[in-house]
Amino acid sequence: MGKNVYIENISKYIGKEVEIRGWLYNRRSSGSIIFLLIRDGTGIIQCIVSKNDVKPEIFKSAQNVTQESSLIIKGKIRKEERAIGGYELFTNNIKILQIVSDYPITPKSHGVGFLMKNRHLWLRSKRQHAILRIRAEVIKASRDYLDNNGFINIDAPILTPAACESTSTLFETKYFDQMAYLSQSGQLYNEATIMSFGKVYCYGPTFRAEKSKTRRHLMEFWMIEPEMAYFDWEDNMKLQEDYVTYIVQTVLNKRKSELHVLNRDLSKLENIKPPFPKISYDKAIDLLRKKGKDIGWGEDFGGDEETIISESFDKPVFIHHYPMQCKAFYMKPDPERPEVSLSNDLIAPEGYGEIIGGGQRVDDIKLLKKKIKEHNLPMDAFKWYLDLRKYGTVPHSGFGLGIERIVAWMCKLKHIRETIPFPRLLYRIYP
Ligand code: ATP
Ligand code: MN
Repeated sequence: MGKNVYIENISKYIGKEVEIRGWLYNRRSSGSIIFLLIRDGTGIIQCIVSKNDVKPEIFKSAQNVTQESSLIIKGKIRKEERAIGGYELFTNNIKILQIVSDYPITPKSHGVGFLMKNRHLWLRSKRQHAILRIRAEVIKASRDYLDNNGFINIDAPILTPAACESTSTLFETKYFDQMAYLSQSGQLYNEATIMSFGKVYCYGPTFRAEKSKTRRHLMEFWMIEPEMAYFDWEDNMKLQEDYVTYIVQTVLNKRKSELHVLNRDLSKLENIKPPFPKISYDKAIDLLRKKGKDIGWGEDFGGDEETIISESFDKPVFIHHYPMQCKAFYMKPDPERPEVSLSNDLIAPEGYGEIIGGGQRVDDIKLLKKKIKEHNLPMDAFKWYLDLRKYGTVPHSGFGLGIERIVAWMCKLKHIRETIPFPRLLYRIYP
């Protein structure tokens, strides 16, 4: 009996008898030899089935097995530079669990609509597998960085009683005899928990009924939101720079083979090191006008503007000091120039747009009340939030990083829909 092993560990079993449990990825034959490519979730290995070396019924099984059939295969491992993954298995036994017929996704190319409808199967393909491994590494690196730098993971609720920002993108749901809303951000709750823990982050699903169809917006996405007591807006940007660098460099180190599957130009990612360029909103407006974009001071930037700005830099670029009207009510105005805020976005290179939004928060109770009124928000709903400025208020800052946005950039994908296992898109909620 062989030992059952995962393909990712196969290098430890050279010359040994093993058992691999997986699915058929591909098959080809040449005379009395059949080559089976088996995948098991951790990798792909080439298995050789030789007519002269196995029982006739085993050879027959190998002839009949079809794409995505589930099977357990046994044999000896040999190093083979030319084979995919660098190793080969010399088959002596095959147990087929199920022979598959008419698997819908074949090696020929399919349209996006078809693939999206078959997302549950599409996830098995090599590219999708690579993207989601990278996604998992981005999440792990994000959390590791924060866990190792004094942050405590304190999660925020998903069901919330009030809108945090724009009411136009809220998903409503019944909450017994009242209404609740799916979370658009955990930030307001983070502002409470930092007063107990100092530096916190929350990580979870975020819901926004984005009514426009873009290649950067999902209705449900995952956001990681650090918040820090006693950090001003510049401390905040310094942290973002360090954090994004850590994520990019970690993924680059640990997921090279997946990045290769995606044909990613690694030099573009290797270049992501501090310092990142920093420009004010005013300077960004100048840059846009110079590039022929007709834009008025005070207008927020959309995907087009962000793409144009990112083209001038080969690293992520900070845009800071957005006009107050571009940002949410809690953003702190610059004391020297109250029409602009101590906010920043971080724009990814290569046209990937905003990956982070952040800033310093209003810490004065009078000013916060004024902002809530100006934004026509219900004062009652924010009673607890105002308490945070009443009992030991401190300067504080934070930001939100969209996991899917950074994955789309790292993988250089045309559309954000491939960065999440089951994307929720405008009018698409199946499977
Ligand atoms: P955008 O202007 O691109 O819509 P935003 O200003 O609404 O972004 P924030 O509210 O600052 O974004 O949210 C923080 C981060 O969450 C963004 O920088 C982005 O990475 C991510 N994000 C926001 N909306 C979406 C979405 N609909 N789908 C995926 N990621 C998103
Ligand atoms: Mn938005």
